[in-house]
Amino acid sequence: MRKKISTAAILALVVSNAFAAQTSQQLTQSVLQDVTAWRRDIHQHPELSNREQRTAKLVADELKKLGYAVRTGIAHTGVVGVLKGGKPGPKLAIRADMDALPVVEEVDLPFASKAKGEYLGKTVGVMHACGHDAHTAMLLGLAEIFARMKNDLPGEVMLIFQPAEEGVPPGETGGAPGMVRDGVFKDFKPDAIFGMHVVSAYNVGIVAVRPAGAMASSDQFHMTVHGKQSHGAVPWKGIDPIVTAAEIVTSAQTIVSRQLDINKAPAVVTFGTFNGGSRFNIVPDSADLAGTIRTFDESMRKQIVASLTNIAEHVAAANGATVDVQMPKSDEERNPVNYNDPALTVRVRTSLEKALGTEHVIEAERWTASEDFPHLAIGAKAPSVYFFVGTTPAGQDAAAAPANHSPRFFVDEGALAIGTQAMLQASLDFLGYK
Ligand SMILES: [Zn+2]
Ligand SMILES: [Zn+2]
Repeated sequence: MRKKISTAAILALVVSNAFAAQTSQQLTQSVLQDVTAWRRDIHQHPELSNREQRTAKLVADELKKLGYAVRTGIAHTGVVGVLKGGKPGPKLAIRADMDALPVVEEVDLPFASKAKGEYLGKTVGVMHACGHDAHTAMLLGLAEIFARMKNDLPGEVMLIFQPAEEGVPPGETGGAPGMVRDGVFKDFKPDAIFGMHVVSAYNVGIVAVRPAGAMASSDQFHMTVHGKQSHGAVPWKGIDPIVTAAEIVTSAQTIVSRQLDINKAPAVVTFGTFNGGSRFNIVPDSADLAGTIRTFDESMRKQIVASLTNIAEHVAAANGATVDVQMPKSDEERNPVNYNDPALTVRVRTSLEKALGTEHVIEAERWTASEDFPHLAIGAKAPSVYFFVGTTPAGQDAAAAPANHSPRFFVDEGALAIGTQAMLQASLDFLGYK
């Protein structure tokens, strides 16, 4: 007996086959206009960390339109969209960050930002100087592609639109650790998490990834050196916290240069602020120091924290002063190493090379900048891979291009296609889409 096949079924078969034949490049091209429009719109309307109201609404509206199960208000303005594919397969989470920086834009663009915001009690210019506008737009582009492929898509995707990657305002919580605490993975346990970042350090067309420690951990520290006030003319009647703090800063330079096994990994100790005193002829009561520790290795991080505390306390004691050392109290207050699971990185790199050609995929250099993305991987207990997408126009020296966070940070929009296609290929391959 011949089986009767309905016209609709034949049509579905044709559509599905036509769809399956499309490459990641063709699929990317089909959403590129939307991605570009979203990116320009978000770029023109940047919002500071934990204030991403408009961006979050735009994202949630689009995800709902596309048929995603949407959760909003996670860690203030975080949005998550989940889509279950029509075929069995693994669960994948992909993350984009949404916040901008207190920077006055100096790039000459028709959609340049003129936005203002409140930062540390001051009115400031706001700019997407780190390219999170591009991240959000590209992930929306992926959302559109996945939604169209839904029936043929194996597994499930969770698209995470995260607030406050650049750091929460003082006294507030949020960002990636905030989303974990708010239960972003309560009902969805991903088998892997992917993330990417646009960077001016590479030319457009280049995608860079490296296994293991890709970005440093970051611990912010504060120290208050307590001395004893006296007239500047008679310092022996006081205890000088400025000289003591200066000695702490100098002695701390020996931690990386003399104490750490730098064969293992590089590390950085930087003092960024040094404040004390009110008048040229007064030895003040106290002086304040603050800085940052960067490492690629947890045991080295612990060693630096212990060593810095030890040096500060002993130098203070040698001067007759005391010191309060404040290190991050919990893991939430610091960024862990952004660690790319080595086995998964091999798989992702293969996908990137398939999508873009081997000549466009390079091994990323280790980067002492930090990210809160690893909180998501740790929170989900899932392996993660995070790669970089170049933004500097072809023919320009990427090493000399204004860096991320600069008022002149520039994203060549060619990077939108590259980033979208790279993440799409990595995702489809991970999900087992054929
Ligand atoms: Zn940034
Ligand atoms: Zn960033």
